[in-house]
Amino acid sequence: MSSTTSQRPRVLTGDTPTGRLHLGHWVGSVERRVQLQHEYDCYFLLANMHAFTTRFDRTGEIRQDTLEIVKDWIAAGIDPDVATIVLQTEVPAIAELTWYFSMLLSFKDVMGNPTLVHELKTKGLEEKHSFGFPMYTVGQCADILAFRPVCIPVGEDQEPHIEMCRKVARKFDQLYCGVSDRTADADYERSGGLFPIPRALIGRVARLPGIGDGSQKMSKSLGNAIFLSDSAKEIQKKVNRITTGRQSPTEPGDPDNVLFKFVEAFISDQGRVAELKDRYARGDNLGDGHVKQELAAAIDALLAPMRARRERFERPDGDAMILDIIKAGTRRANLVAEETLFLAKKAMNMDFGRRTLG
Ligand code: ATP
Ligand code: MG
Repeated sequence: MSSTTSQRPRVLTGDTPTGRLHLGHWVGSVERRVQLQHEYDCYFLLANMHAFTTRFDRTGEIRQDTLEIVKDWIAAGIDPDVATIVLQTEVPAIAELTWYFSMLLSFKDVMGNPTLVHELKTKGLEEKHSFGFPMYTVGQCADILAFRPVCIPVGEDQEPHIEMCRKVARKFDQLYCGVSDRTADADYERSGGLFPIPRALIGRVARLPGIGDGSQKMSKSLGNAIFLSDSAKEIQKKVNRITTGRQSPTEPGDPDNVLFKFVEAFISDQGRVAELKDRYARGDNLGDGHVKQELAAAIDALLAPMRARRERFERPDGDAMILDIIKAGTRRANLVAEETLFLAKKAMNMDFGRRTLG
């Protein structure tokens, strides 16, 4: 990493290793990361600690998916020599900040977070989630603020989490850094606050539906995802599972249905999209099957170069190469996160000397 990189404003975002990356990640966040990495000092976090919320009994899977996600990132175009790849469990400042931040949020702030509420419901955990599950929302505030970023590229489902994070940053700066509560968000740092109030940068497609009837967002945990590493055959098979309820090619169809959400997201020729929509709406002999074939080909054209870039990590030494990348990135990340923790402790009158990590 060049020394000038660290002078650039920082960006932080990440993924939980609960499976491989899918098209929702691409349009919601990863595509943007690939663009931002050259302009900003980017930190991409592997939230392996947060994967314990649903997989504390399958830690081997968390470990393997952590490595698979890095392979997906690099395949998608993230360059680990430009952006910093961070492993959450090796950044102790994050866990420490989580504790302090948990005092700045009310129990209701956390338990009423709409994304958390929805997640517990769709995962069937409303009545039986662990004590620790909701903590990940506070942990995510620490993931972000440890890097004091200006923005966070995420999908729409993350907005409540980012709002919580902004609340924590404002509260910390007011309580411990003497910033007035009348300060505009953009002025917190300039007014003496440790934390900037970071903003969410929502992706080109805020919420990509899953395959099937599209009622849920595409999600690794819900079995409705097309993965970035899927083969052409798998892509076609999964695209065929998109259901619209339309019976025949001459039946006027809804050009805003789930199938066309995918068409809009992945067929880049806008003229062709408009033509397909027009014929579909008029029932002009355009079957769902035909649209699906064109869609699958467009998705495959996007994913084929990613599959090719992934190949070099699918050799026996692939995992070792990824581990080296993770270690190097995490070392860089700890420099920033430790500095943030030191400054935060100082602001809280808890600075009893500076420490260095081994
Ligand atoms: P899980 O099911 O374990 O929650 P997930 O598929 O929702 O996994 P996350 O790791 O929670 O994936 O999300 C990582 C990033 O990708 C977040 O910024 C999230 O907003 C974005 N993202 C995930 N799914 C979608 C989607 N379907 N559309 C747009 N963005 C998405
Ligand atoms: Mg999620």
